Formats: sequence, structure tokens, C-alpha cells
Amino acid sequence: MDKRLILKPGREKSLLRRHPWIFSGAIQHVQGDPNKGDTLAVESAKGDFLGYCGYNPDSSIRGRMWTFDENEINASFFKEKLRIAISLRRDIDYIDSQNNACRLIHAESDGLPGLIVDQYGEYLAVQFLTAAIDTWRDEIIAALAEITGIRCIYERSDVEVRRLEGLEERKGVLLGEEPPSRIEIIENGLKFLVDIKEGQKTGFYLDQRNNRAVLAPFAQGKDMLNCFSYTGGFAVYGLNAGAHSVLSVDSSQEANDLALENILLNGLKEEKAQFITGDVFQELRKFRDARRSFDLIVLDPPKFASTSAQADKAARGYKDINLLAFKLLKPGGTLFTFSCSGGVSRELFQKIIADAALDAGFSAAIIRQLSQGPDHPIALNFPEGEYLKGLVCKIQ
Ligand code: SAH
Repeated sequence: MDKRLILKPGREKSLLRRHPWIFSGAIQHVQGDPNKGDTLAVESAKGDFLGYCGYNPDSSIRGRMWTFDENEINASFFKEKLRIAISLRRDIDYIDSQNNACRLIHAESDGLPGLIVDQYGEYLAVQFLTAAIDTWRDEIIAALAEITGIRCIYERSDVEVRRLEGLEERKGVLLGEEPPSRIEIIENGLKFLVDIKEGQKTGFYLDQRNNRAVLAPFAQGKDMLNCFSYTGGFAVYGLNAGAHSVLSVDSSQEANDLALENILLNGLKEEKAQFITGDVFQELRKFRDARRSFDLIVLDPPKFASTSAQADKAARGYKDINLLAFKLLKPGGTLFTFSCSGGVSRELFQKIIADAALDAGFSAAIIRQLSQGPDHPIALNFPEGEYLKGLVCKIQ
């Protein structure tokens, strides 16, 4: 191949450990005048072959590795990668009679940098997040349709990260008919309406499936506060498990409206569910001032930090809401607290929660450590793939 990327001396180390990213600072030079999205052979400064990457001169991550072997990068290469990733989900029975939605492709962690594919019943929602994966979009759409047999594919590449790649945001039908604005899925036997066209991410936080199931036994007879509640994932599980009341707080009115629809769809009692459309940081303070208390609190905020450079600011946000949450818990109460910030490590998150409990004046213990579900795997060569961290803490 005449298009080549040659690394600076010593900069092949991370690639020899199969880490898939090549930063601009590691590159000696690029040969063959490649276009954005082209496939390049990657070589060390000594001329050793290291694999093939997708190239983007507009991104600080210049190269993302497709392979560390002598593969040809073509339609069958992508089809094979997709097949392997999808069969992983089938092997662990992640779609069964009680579940018809899951993540099929989790980008780098499935060897496909830049590609997210989520299945919602008979629909796929797809994100092409990098220039390199964008050049293979037609081949990927055709392969997804062939492997899954699904006839409706919708694109949700309307995300900020595309700008970092110098790409326009995109959304719309890729295959089949326009999806309805409400798709009904089932998760652990519970029903949820998902708006894959306008909802957040691709419509639903699939990564929390197992953690919602972990919450259920804690909810029976309890007063639950569900912060950052989105379309009511944790609320539906709590009410279904017999919660006495569930108060959900989210800044999005659309999310709260859909959460109520989800509660009704499952035949659960509307009068046990309350909603506040507002800012969790402010609402928690109002609850504190009003001396309200709860048996069970969920904190599932959006990402506060994508990179470790933003970790300090994120830490202050987590400390704030967790300290307030500890103060609102009744004796013996339980806190489900999450961080989906890639820039905040599990270790740091635990330290923040420990500081929050300390400052609130409580002793608490971790009784469960939670993570993203197995349909969001963490490739061993790509630890950045671990982003969702959760702790279940009990006041002692
Ligand atoms: N727990 C949810 C997912 C939460 S996603 C589930 O299981 O489905 C994060 C949510 O936080 C989003 O719905 C977003 O609208 C909301 N949000 C973001 N910032 C907020 C803020 N400051 N106050 C309240 N809600 C906020």
C-alpha cells in the first residue's frame, strides 16, 4: 500500500499493546497524500509493519486502528467484525423472551472505532462517529441488514463528537421505513417506549439494564428519589417492585412525559409517581431545606467529564450531588450512585463518594459495585471503554 503513516521512534509502544489510537504527536510523517477517512498502513520508525488505521488529519486522534494484522480492509473485513460482535451478544443470550433491545456494536471495544449500533426490537439505531467509519457506511448498513435480518435502520449521528472529526451532524432513515416516534421495547419483562429519532443518545440508556434489575429488590415499600430520571428506567423498576412512592427529577419535560407513559404502559399506579422538571443540583437543595428524606436515592447524571483533564470539575459536581443525597437518606437508606464520565476512574469516583459521605457526617458501606452491561464490553486493550461506574451504598 502506498498510503502510509510512519510513527516517531519509540511511539509504536501503545500499538504493540494493541491500543487503537494514534495521536498527532506520535506521527513522523504521512505518505501518499491520503484523504480524510482513508485506510493507511502503519509503520514504526524502523519500518516494522504495525497494522492498518483509518485516517483523519482534522482530528487530534489522527489514526484509529482497524487491525494489527495483515488484513485487507474491505467490505468483508467489516462484515466479519460485525458478525463477531453480534454473535457475542447472541452467545450471552442478551436478547431473549424478556429482552429485545441491546447494544450490538460498542465502537473500539468491538474493534470498530467510531461505530455504535443499538437494537430496539425490529429497529437499529446507528451512529457513525468518525470520518474513517463514515467512509464505510454503505458497506456497514448492508452488512448489518444481512446479519441481523432487520429491515429498518435509522442514523443518529447528530452528536457533538462528529465536529471534532470535521464532520456534519447527520440523522435520518438509512434503510426501510421511517420509524414511529415511539417504539415499544421490553427489558427484563418491563415495557418501555423509546423515541429513536429524537431521544437522547440513540433513545434509551441500554447500559443500565442490569443495574435497574439490581435496584428492584431495594424498592419494595420504600420512598424513592430518582435523580436524572430520563424516561423512567429506574422509576418503572422501582414501582414494579412495590415502591411506596417514586419522585423523579429531570431537566427534560419530554423525558418526564415519556416516563409517565412508561409507568402507565406497565399498568403501574400513576398516583405513586411524582415528577419534577428541574435542575437536580437545585432540587436537592430544596429537599434539604424542606427536610425531606427518602429510603432509596438514584443519582444517574449525564457525563460531567469526557477526559481526565476535566476530572477536577467533574469531581466537584459528583461531590455536590452525592453529599446532598447522603443528607437526604433516612437511617439505613440506600444510594445508587453512578458516573458515566470516561475521565473519572472507578478509583476516583469511589474516593469522591467517600468524601461526600464523610462531609455529610455519615458512615456508609459499598454493598455492590456496578458497571455497564455486557453488551457494552470493555476490550482489554482499550481500558477507556469502561465508562459507567456505579456504587450501591448503604448508610450504616
Ligand atoms: N437514569 C436514566 C438515564 C439518565 S441520563 C435511565 O435509566 O434511563 C441523564 C439525564 O439527566 C437526562 O435525562 C438529562 O435530561 C438529565 N439531566 C442533565 N442535566 C440535568 C440537571 N442538571 N438536572 C436534572 N436533569 C438533568
